[in-house]
This record gives sequence, C-alpha cells and structure tokens, in this order.
Amino acid sequence: EKWVYTFGDGKAEGEAGMKNLLGGKGANLAEMSNLALPVPPGFTITTEVCTWYYDNGKTFPAELDGQVKAALADMGKLTGKTFGDPANPLLVSVRSGARASMPGMMDTVLNLGLNDVTVEAVAQASGDARFAWDSYRRFITMYSNVVLDVDHGHFEEALEDYKERKGYQLDTELSADDWKSLVGKYKAIVQKELGSAFPQEPEKQLWGAVGAVFSSWMNNRAIKYRELNDIPAAWGTAVNVQSMVFGNMGETSATGVAFTRNPSTGENELYGEFLINAQGEDVVAGIRTPQDITEAAKIAAGSDKPSMEKAMPEAYAELCRIYGILEKHYRDMQDMEFTIQEGKLWMLQTRSGKRTAKAALRIAVDLAREGLITEKEAVGRIEPGALDQLLHPTIDAKAERRVLTTGLPASPGAAAGEIVFTSEAAEAAKKAGRKCILVRVETSPEDIHGMHAAEGILTTRGGMTSHAAVVARGMGKPCVSGAGQIRVDYAKATMSVGPTTLKSGDFVTIDGSTGQVLLGEVKMQQPEFSEEFKTLMGWADNVRRLKVRANAETPRDARTAREFGAEGIGLCRTEHMFFDAGRILAMREMILSEEEAGRRAALAKLLPMQRQDFVELFTIMHGLPVTIRLLDPPLHEFLPHSDEEIAEVAAAMGTTIDKLKRRAAELHEFNPMLGFRGVRLAVAYPEIAEMQARAIFEAAVIAARETGKPVIPEVMVPLVIGSPEFDLVKAGIDAMAAAVRTETGASLSYQVGTMIELPRAALRAEEIARTAEFFSFGTNDLTQTALGISRDDASSFLGSYTARGLLTSDPFVTIDQEGVGELVRIAVERGRKSRPDIKLGICGEHGGDPASIGFCESVGLDYVSCSPFRVPIARLAAAQAAL
Ligand code: ADP
Ligand code: MG
Ligand code: MG
Repeated sequence: EKWVYTFGDGKAEGEAGMKNLLGGKGANLAEMSNLALPVPPGFTITTEVCTWYYDNGKTFPAELDGQVKAALADMGKLTGKTFGDPANPLLVSVRSGARASMPGMMDTVLNLGLNDVTVEAVAQASGDARFAWDSYRRFITMYSNVVLDVDHGHFEEALEDYKERKGYQLDTELSADDWKSLVGKYKAIVQKELGSAFPQEPEKQLWGAVGAVFSSWMNNRAIKYRELNDIPAAWGTAVNVQSMVFGNMGETSATGVAFTRNPSTGENELYGEFLINAQGEDVVAGIRTPQDITEAAKIAAGSDKPSMEKAMPEAYAELCRIYGILEKHYRDMQDMEFTIQEGKLWMLQTRSGKRTAKAALRIAVDLAREGLITEKEAVGRIEPGALDQLLHPTIDAKAERRVLTTGLPASPGAAAGEIVFTSEAAEAAKKAGRKCILVRVETSPEDIHGMHAAEGILTTRGGMTSHAAVVARGMGKPCVSGAGQIRVDYAKATMSVGPTTLKSGDFVTIDGSTGQVLLGEVKMQQPEFSEEFKTLMGWADNVRRLKVRANAETPRDARTAREFGAEGIGLCRTEHMFFDAGRILAMREMILSEEEAGRRAALAKLLPMQRQDFVELFTIMHGLPVTIRLLDPPLHEFLPHSDEEIAEVAAAMGTTIDKLKRRAAELHEFNPMLGFRGVRLAVAYPEIAEMQARAIFEAAVIAARETGKPVIPEVMVPLVIGSPEFDLVKAGIDAMAAAVRTETGASLSYQVGTMIELPRAALRAEEIARTAEFFSFGTNDLTQTALGISRDDASSFLGSYTARGLLTSDPFVTIDQEGVGELVRIAVERGRKSRPDIKLGICGEHGGDPASIGFCESVGLDYVSCSPFRVPIARLAAAQAAL
C-alpha cells in the first residue's frame, strides 16, 4: 500500500484535488510543485496512516518505514544532502496538515536533523556559525516544546537571563558563541525536565515528530475544535516532511506571508509582511516588527524600514510572478507563506485566504469581471450570513474594547448610549435627543416602544430566540441577550457585574455581533453599500427563483425593506400597531369591555388609526403584495398592570376600578401562547376582525387612488386548526369587502389566506385550501407546537440538547427538517391537491436563515419573508439554493 507521496523539482505524486488523502497543505505543496514553482522537495505521509495509527494501538504500518527512507533518499538526490549524514546533513521541517486548517494541531518543527555533530557541519558548509547555532537552538526549543512537551517558558527565561547579563536588547545581537552557550543551557533544561538527554539521532527525532503530529489529532484542543466545527475525527491528519530552506542566513535571507489581495478590503494588491534574517513564525510571533512587502504599503504605513520591493527586488519580482500564477490557477485569493534563502524565493504554502465580508464581495465581483470565475460562481462564493457584517454599524476595528461582560450575539451591529432601565425612560431619552441602550432582565411586548426608541437592547435573561432577540432582529437593532453575569436592580436603577456598578445615564456600547458589552462610548463605523454589493446582489437576483419579502409593519421598517430589495411584505403584525401610547388605551377599553357595544365603541376609535397605518404601508410598498395578519396575540398581553394604568382605563370607560380588576383577572391565562389568541379572537369577537378588514379595504381603495397602482391586500387569518373556523372568519371578511365596494364604488381585489402554524392545520391543508387562497408557514409557532417546546423557555435546556447532538441545531434558528419540515411538506402537497396554484410562503424567523431557505427552495415555496435587515441575506441564500 502507498502511504507516502513525494513532491519537489517540478513534479509530484499528488495534486490539489487530493486534500482528503494529503491534507490541505500537502495537496497544495504537490500542486505548486506540479506548476513548477520553487518548492523545497519533500513528502506527505497520508491521512490514512493517521487512521491506521489509531486503529492499531498507535503503531505505524509495516511498509511505512521503507517508504519514508526511500522518500528521504529522493530528497537527498534533489538537494545533494543526506539525512543524518554527519558531514553533509539534510535538515527537514515536520508539518501537520489536516484537510481543513486546524488550530490545536501540533506546531511545525523546523531544522530537524540537527545535533551536536551536524550543527558543526552546517556551520562549516555555510561559513556562518551564528546561523548554524541559531538554527540549532530554535530546533531544540520547538522540538522540546511540541514533541517532548517541555514548557517553552523555560527556554525563554534562559534566553532573557542571558540577554540581560550580556546587556543585549535584541536576539539579533547574539553571536555564534552566545547561541552556542545557550544551546548548552537548553540541553541542560531538557535533561533536568525529562531526566534524559535531548535526542541526538536524526531518525529518532523524525519519528518522534511524526508520532507527535498524529497524537495531536486527539489532543483536547483539537477535539474541541472539531466538535465546534463539525469535523469528523475519522478524517485524520497528514504529516509533511520537507527539506529546509533558511530565512535566517543573514541579510539576503527572509521569511514572509502574503495575500494575493487585501483580505480586509479586497483590493487587488499584494498584501503582506516579511522579516529579514528570520525563520518560520517569527513574522507572526511579534518578536520584531515585520516590514511591508510593497513599497506602496510601506509609504502608506509611514514605516521607516525598507519594503521587500526595494530591499530584495529580485525575490519580489519572483513573488509577483508566482502570485499571478497561483491566483489564475486556483481562481481565488491566496494566502501564501514563503522563505527567501540567500536571495532565492521558495514557496512553503498556499491556500484560499480568509477574508472579511467586504473583501469577499469585492474579490468575488473582481474575479468574475476578470473572467476567472462566472457570475454564478461569484454568487456561490459569499457566505450569506457574512453579509450581516455589512448591514449594520460596527465597532471601529482600531477602537479599544473595555469588556464589561459577554452575552449572546442576539442581533448584529453595534450601538452606544446611556443606559436606561425602562421603556418610558428610553422614550424620554429619545425625545430629549439622547442615545440610549435599554437594559432589561427580559423584554415583553409592552417594551416595543422602548425598544424602538433605544439604539440597542441588552437583556440578562433569554436566548437567541427570546422576545428581545427576535424583536431586535426584526427592527434591525443591535441586541445582546442573556448576559447572565449582569445583576439589574430596577429599584436603584443600577446594573452591576462583579465589583463594577453602572447607574442609569452611564454610557455603554453593545456589540450584537459578538455579544460583548463594553464600557463607555466606543467609536463606530457606519455601513455602506459598496458598488460590489449591489452588483453581486443583482447577479443573485438573476439566479434565484424564490421571492423575498419582509416582515414589517412600521413605515420605517417597510422603507428599509424596500431599500434592501424586498419584493413585498410577507407579514404585517397588526398587534404591533396597538402598543403605541395613543392607542393602547383604546385597545384596553376594547378588551376589557364586557359586552359588544363597549368593544364596538373602542374599535371605532381604533379604526381610523389602523386605516391610516395601512394607507401608509400600501403607499410605501407601491403595488407590491402586502400580507396583513389579523390580530394574533393573547389579549393577556395588553392588559393593564399597575393601579395607575387600571385607573386610567376605568376612567376612560366610565366604570369602577374594582370591576375592571375583576374583568382583568378573568382574562388572565395560564398558558397564553396556547390560549385566547389568533383566529379564536375573531371567532369570539367578530367585531375585531370586522374592524380590521374594514381598515384594510378602505385603505386599499385610498392608496390605489393616491398612488395609481392597484393594491391587492392579502388578509391572513392566524392560528387556524381547520377549515370551519377559517371559513367562518372568511365569510365576515368577504362581507366587509362587499360593503366597502358598495360604499366606495371602487373595484377591489384581495385574497384571504391563512397561516399554517399548528400541526393540525398542516394535516388538514387539503380541506383548508379549498377556501384559503394562500398559506404562510408560521414556523415559529409550528416549531413550538410540533416539538412541544416553548421558545421563551427553551434556553434553559436546549443548549444541552445541541451540545450532546440530540438536536443538530437550534430548531428555532434553523428549521427542523425532519419534523417541522415534514409538516410543511405535507401541507404543501395537500394544499396543492385542492388548489394547484395556491400561493405558498414562510414568515417565521426561519425565513431569514440560509439553511432553512435551502429547505424552502427544495419544497417549492413561492417566497420567504424575513426581517428587513435579513432581506439581502435571504436574496443571496435563495440564489445559492437555486444554483
Ligand atoms: P502552520 O500550519 O501553522 O502555518 P506551517 O507548517 O506552515 O505551520 O509552518 C509554519 C512556518 O514554518 C512556515 O510558514 C514557514 O515559514 C516555516 N517552515 C515550514 N517548513 C519549512 C521549510 N521546509 N523551510 C523553511 N521554513 C519552513
Ligand atoms: Mg503555514
Ligand atoms: Mg404565530
């Protein structure tokens, strides 16, 4: 069996497509060799050896030793050196390399093959004793640390002591003799720590390092990383053994890293850093300040050290030649590692470079324009969720972060302001022109106005799908939820974390993208829509089949939705329109009336406000479809709480406080989410739905007249369990439409449909679709009711479910395809049986989740609807689902 693949000298046994077998690093080293780029020769021990190693009690397959010897001999031929030879030694690096780059794996060991004898030979051959001893001390440090598990602190301490005694500042001041005497000390440290000498036999060193790479596959850090990133343990890692090239051979040698394009802006320019007379990770280790690669970057940074372009023009020209080849070949931005030995450039690694969302857009669009990839490929290159970074203000990358505590990144973007603890205080601050952050233990529907007024929301309880999180995402406001270390004292208007206490009026900044809560007002960057963003979204729109609508009810949200490219409103939650100061009183009068006449009187006050809401919404949406949901939430949520509030309502209704309290107690519910809500309200109090239908139809007539665009409202009945109740309510709506037609003399088109958000409704879809003209899947409630999990209470146990793999992901974030998805499939199929052209959409939180959008495409929905700020993400995800 073949366990070893060689590369070097313009050819290789492997290639880039063999990442599974050779790991990412090994496959790309082979590919670069095949491209005849200068790669120091070497070989890759395959990932299958790693698997074999663990299947066989940490031993190696019998043939491996021979194959490694043969490969070392090949390297010897190409380099003119011999591994282990005392006079002319071949030195190598041992590098781990999994399929995907993985922190937690063993660090690279350089200069392997050095010992007390070969170090002298290297000094002789190079004529540079300092270089030889510097390399040897590096080797002892690295090998001891990563293979022998001796803490590198010991070596650092010895070096610091030595420098202090000699009065040196920089490592570069140490001479050959200095390093030589340090090597003696280092060996003594190893002897003391391990009770045995530092291994001198190169072959033993090599197998020690190879074994260490395989062992590191199962260390805790690596296991944890795999868990978090869904990497199966069965993949294994490869090991690369490569002949050394030296960046530490004096002033004509160097080591560096470079990106073929700027990874933070995406600009088409070589971007990177290098260090003269240095080795390996010195560049990133921060031992000395690295130098810029291009002269332009050097000037821009105002650096006083020469650029590589000026200091090493030939190596620079070679790097430019090579990066052009690599980009064309891989058709993507590359992240490269290289070393220059005495003026000659060697490539040590290349891979697709990590980049910000902004850079990703720019690079994808540029590559398509350069003809390297197609427009469709460009669409596929952007991770939809990453766009979130671009749609909200963010904390200035250079700003200092004084972190108070960290909660959940519930709604992206950053916001700063003085802290307030009540929604009233938030509104007052806003009126006074001051920015504020609303801090609550948790929020409820009554806080909506406060949330609107605040720049951002911070809660100490509740998960990613808590009320605060969902509403904040809907509003596009930054939110950090579940910051459990914060203690809020409403009475004193303070919040504290450990010894730090902040009072109302103190400034904080929240970062809803990371969950951080920061002290003070931190500097922000405003989002901007680049030309590339618009271009790429245009390409996405050409590809997608699913339409994208927004969940919106306020004029502001509707405008944002249109700016972001929404093709209509998929969910207008009318109850959100009743919490405003001027309306809640009338709403409470309506709920608390004991008989119809009282309700009608209150509804008459609400009608003109509601009609005006719809006129505005229809006008903004300018002929695009608007789905309006009839009143849905439990009346419970609107009940007055404080004595003051009760007194106010009692006065307005001309009744007594006692009577009103009794009525409120009657309406109290144990389980409001499964209680008196949704279509049940319309069944018990038909006058509510009647008023809303009238407001909708009258508004449609007015808006159509004013805009000159036909308005075809879609009236949606929530929470039905079957057709009888739907038909009953629909009859009332139809009657109202007929009445408005007669009264206004206008022609009026509209549709009546329903939400499918209870399992029974999904099962009865065939019957419901006989009269319902559209379905909108309310997957929040459908998930709650199908799984029997209340989303407001899920945070206490759901985490242990996902952590233990009992659920693959949070079902309130990504649709549970096997259960909830099955109900959706059933409803789609049965609904189409009785009405083949039924319009199908989704309006739950899942409508903005890329994975769930993929599911919506696969079951053939017509549209998804999500919060305005997620519209671009949904457009892109819908396009990728159709690719
Ligand atoms: P990582 O996966 O952490 O990037 P690498 O295996 O790429 O680790 O090694 C880190 C660095 O060590 C490389 O960027 C390079 O500078 C140096 N290095 C590795 N192998 C060699 C070699 N054969 N010759 C010279 N330098 C090397
Ligand atoms: Mg590397
Ligand atoms: Mg619902």
